[in-house]
Amino acid sequence: MLGLMMNEPLRIAGLLEHAAKWHAETEIVSRLAEGGLHRYTYAAAHLRSKQLANALSELGVSNGDRVGTLAWNTHRHFELYYGISGMGAVCHTINPRLFFEQLVYIINHAEDRLLFFDLTFLSLVEKLAPQCPKVESWVLMTGRAHMPEATTLPDLRCYEDLLAAHTSDYEWPMFDENTASSLCYTSGTTDQPKGVLYSHRSTLLHSYAASLPDGFNCSARDVVLPVVPMFHVNAWGIPYTAPMNGCKLVMPGPGLDAASLYELYEQEGVTFTAGVPTIWFGLLTFMREKKLQFTTLKKMIVGGASCPPALLKAFDEELSVEIRHAWGMSETSPLGTVCTLKPQQLNLSPDEQFAIQTKQGRAIFGVDMKIVDDAGQELPHDGVAFGDLLVRGPFIAREYFGADQPGGLTASGWFRTGDVATIDPAGFMQITDRSKDVIKSGGEWISSIELENLAVGHPAIAEAAVIGVPHPKWSERPLLVVVRKPDSEISKQELLAYYEGKVARWWIPEAVEFVEQLPHTATGKLLKTKLRQDFAGYEFEKR
Ligand code: ADP
Repeated sequence: MLGLMMNEPLRIAGLLEHAAKWHAETEIVSRLAEGGLHRYTYAAAHLRSKQLANALSELGVSNGDRVGTLAWNTHRHFELYYGISGMGAVCHTINPRLFFEQLVYIINHAEDRLLFFDLTFLSLVEKLAPQCPKVESWVLMTGRAHMPEATTLPDLRCYEDLLAAHTSDYEWPMFDENTASSLCYTSGTTDQPKGVLYSHRSTLLHSYAASLPDGFNCSARDVVLPVVPMFHVNAWGIPYTAPMNGCKLVMPGPGLDAASLYELYEQEGVTFTAGVPTIWFGLLTFMREKKLQFTTLKKMIVGGASCPPALLKAFDEELSVEIRHAWGMSETSPLGTVCTLKPQQLNLSPDEQFAIQTKQGRAIFGVDMKIVDDAGQELPHDGVAFGDLLVRGPFIAREYFGADQPGGLTASGWFRTGDVATIDPAGFMQITDRSKDVIKSGGEWISSIELENLAVGHPAIAEAAVIGVPHPKWSERPLLVVVRKPDSEISKQELLAYYEGKVARWWIPEAVEFVEQLPHTATGKLLKTKLRQDFAGYEFEKR
């Protein structure tokens, strides 16, 4: 017997319709690539998204067509999220930080028909165009005044002209909620970029889950600033959760430096923000130097890479901001776990609480997870056993877009994350490594992330990476590669001695190397494949 409830499909356009109707005057504020701030309301954003949908229809875009964006977090990118997906096409967000060959590869692989881009990327797009013959039109996301006088682009259009030529008289179409809505390629930390194709249903379910109190805890009283880019993993879903909950949305545009962010936090009364650890370290240094405090900011989501305890502690104790550590990936929409304490942990000492908050956290509703050994056997939740982390749920990818081979699912339908983790008895998951970065010494695993977190907790160290290097006796031993802070004097021996008593003796890195900088991926993560190449053939000195 079926239930007797209305069978209304979950659609992305419904989010903006809701915000425009019930939070009509709530603002979206954006810093623009052309300079200056733009400010309007959900009601106005809705009308312009409909104008855009009319323009796309006239340009011949239809169901399932891919429309690319190369853009910062701004109101225009927000309109594209809704205009493109709302009409039944696929909003393909492209990460401008990817390497040129990767950009060419994914634009061609996705078969984007149109490509919308910010002024910042004009010269990049001029170089891309000759290698992307399937793109029919290029649309510069600006007004007439900022259009270039000359360009090599074959069919360059002006975003504001395009909108002005169309009315907002448009009904969002109804379609199956499993219809594809958006496409994002993983940045390929370990491989070629792979396309994750989200649906309207998965996006809406993810938005409900991300909004929960132990998730982002969004409300109509919040003012949200996503530092995480809309060009990678949908800015962790914030462009959807904000209108769902009626939050004021503050878009930083290209201004991702600490001073520009701080200005927006204070000026717009931001209560909640989200980004990767590197951004927060930069903000912390800036605020310490200028002796600043926040007036309204209360909560910060940190994810994308492991959050060192030193960062958690500094924001909590010096700036009174709660950091919530979260884990996820493009394939999980992206939120998988968020770290908030359980009631029995509230009586622990601050340091014991920080130790828990350093973990990646508990599964949000909609995500099931488990850890397994090499034979696929489930491992206990004892906080000690390490294993491959598998997840499943309605907003987790089952295969990649246009892939020659099936996705990374196990026979029983779990997605292999490529991360290695522990789960403790209270259900808190902790990532110890990516499976390709695991260090196996004398048959036992050593967590490179834990060793890196400890290193950056040292006042003389700016950044750290630990890789496994072949060793005649132990098969592999950890090598610590660090960037020292300017003017700091620490020696290799001092750094190794610093690990004494903090980890098991055999975890202490075998050697330390100082470098000027570490290699990063396009999204700012440590690129260990490159580091391993750089240190190929490395030989440990006899100790
Ligand atoms: P890629 O880097 O391949 O493009 P994503 O951007 O989707 O993929 O990043 C996902 C990966 O980032 C995860 O599989 C995990 O290795 C890492 N990651 C994300 N959040 C965290 C976190 N809080 N702690 C440690 N690692 C994290």
